[in-house]
Amino acid sequence: MMLLRSNIASMQGYVPGYQPEDISSWIKLNTNENPYPPSPKVREAILAEMGDDGASLRTYPSASSQRLREAASELYGFDPSWIIMANGSDELLNNLIRACASEGDEVGYVHPSYSYYATLSEIQGAKVRTFGLTEDFRIAGFPDRYQGRVFFLTTPNAPLGFSFPLSYVEEIARSCQGLLVIDEAYADFADTNALELVRKYENVVVTRTFSKSYALAGMRLGLAIARPEIVAALDKIRDHYNLDRLAQASCIASLGDQEYFRQSCARIRETREWFSAGLRSIGFSLIPSQTNFVFASPPDRNGRRVYDALYSRKILVRHFSDPILAHGLRISIGTRQEMELTLAALAEIA
Ligand SMILES: *Cc1c(COP(=O)(O)O)cnc(C)c1O
Repeated sequence: MMLLRSNIASMQGYVPGYQPEDISSWIKLNTNENPYPPSPKVREAILAEMGDDGASLRTYPSASSQRLREAASELYGFDPSWIIMANGSDELLNNLIRACASEGDEVGYVHPSYSYYATLSEIQGAKVRTFGLTEDFRIAGFPDRYQGRVFFLTTPNAPLGFSFPLSYVEEIARSCQGLLVIDEAYADFADTNALELVRKYENVVVTRTFSKSYALAGMRLGLAIARPEIVAALDKIRDHYNLDRLAQASCIASLGDQEYFRQSCARIRETREWFSAGLRSIGFSLIPSQTNFVFASPPDRNGRRVYDALYSRKILVRHFSDPILAHGLRISIGTRQEMELTLAALAEIA
């Protein structure tokens, strides 16, 4: 008896980065988490939301995350009707596909970027089409009129770390006949972002996550900014209580502490520049990064060997076996001390 849809039965499923049990014994640089805690206001907000006896947890949270949408509206300068909050930006990527691509429709994205787009498309039964990158980091063979229902553009790119210039992103927006989802998971570490294109083009959505720059990966928080028609569609599709009370309170508190946020991002960018220069000085080649990670190749271009050598020293980074990425490693930016230890280890290994 065949109980499952055939695409579900045959699909692989997404494999997230490794989360070791004994986390404190590792230098963990494999999933682009923030090495610093979230704003201290987050802890206060969670305790306040719970109350002394946790009684607030008896009742459902705001279904629309209304206060949070308003806080985000103030910060990003878009009306609340243009903003939707989600249980991680992954939830938005999923619901955007569900909203726009029927079974058999095409969903496109750049390879390499975030392979979860493919998993989500397969679940929906959509066809996946990938586009490679040229040497100068443009999309290879992107048509003047791209007919796919959804196209995902990750900028800054993960795992390579470069940003597409805004003028180029705008060209892509004009070429896309369907939805262009600009996945800006790392924009807070970059010099530019594409938010203004949401106002300019009906088919543009920008997604952000609180997992990296706001240090809230464990809370699962993301947002999208899009036209009210698109936001309304996403509101129909999502779980009605998609954000729990503690997540909503945490997010309001962290958005409200921009001073802390700016300092935390600035420290990571500084450490990134220091670490990048260090890597170059020991013979690694790397792509200048606009994110909280670097993609770097050792002199022998054997990423796997260096991954294993770091692993045996309890330093966890990310290696991709995909042939176009196997020569390098994606290394998240940790604290300055973690990166000093990592650089010293790499100098011995390389
Ligand atoms: C981390 C990441 C996400 C997922 O963010 P969550 O809010 O943790 O779900 C989405 N896109 C890219 C490119 C990422 O790196």
